[in-house]
Amino acid sequence: MATYIGLDLGGTNIKISVFDDFFHKLGEKRTPTEVRFGSEHVLNRIYDAVLALLDELHLTCQDITCMGIGVPGILDIKNGISRFSPNFPKWEEVPIVAWMESHLHIPTYIDNDARVNLYGEWKFGAGKNRNNVLMITLGTGLGGAAVIDGRVIYGATGSAGEIGHINMFREGRECRCGSSGCLGRYVSALGILRTFREKVQLGQHSIICDWVNNDLDKATADMLSRAYDDGDAVAIETMRETGELLGYGLCA
Ligand SMILES: [Zn+2]
Repeated sequence: MATYIGLDLGGTNIKISVFDDFFHKLGEKRTPTEVRFGSEHVLNRIYDAVLALLDELHLTCQDITCMGIGVPGILDIKNGISRFSPNFPKWEEVPIVAWMESHLHIPTYIDNDARVNLYGEWKFGAGKNRNNVLMITLGTGLGGAAVIDGRVIYGATGSAGEIGHINMFREGRECRCGSSGCLGRYVSALGILRTFREKVQLGQHSIICDWVNNDLDKATADMLSRAYDDGDAVAIETMRETGELLGYGLCA
């Protein structure tokens, strides 16, 4: 029987699932990524979490046929290297595949995080039996991927579908990709919080200010969502502007 690991390396959490031959989930684990401590720390966190999950399931690395990792940012897919990821500090040319294969001895593959999501939806979910599928991932950052005429598109550098870096403003927020005004700097958990903070700093009052004792760094995207549901005017304005920008970006 073949057993697989699917791993989502997010800017906030590492999510790991183990699947059987029929892609039934045998177990899962979620642990904070702690990106601020750099690549070696994150690789070690993946390693520890994989071993802990396998242990819970009474499996060993030898039982795993292969592992697929979804990684945000620009990748060298063929060589298994994460070249750069805008929401990951101290993260450059990280040899994820070589590291995992030498430490866990599990055959490992990487692809863009939005694209692996797309594969899942295309094979099993909302995009099943479709020839043209567009995937948008809204998390810490903003990602995208597409199936066109029955093929997942990669492009010359493997970054086709990276809608997070569509330029929306000439003189916009700086992006770690080197450009500025990128869509993902606005439409993402980090971006939407920044929009919210800017509104409060200009003098608008939100219920979230009370929740975090005016320490805006403590505000989260989840709070924004709750404040929106409570009818908070600043949260509603922030959500509307962000949604509108996403709409414009998708049409670009
Ligand atoms: Zn960018």
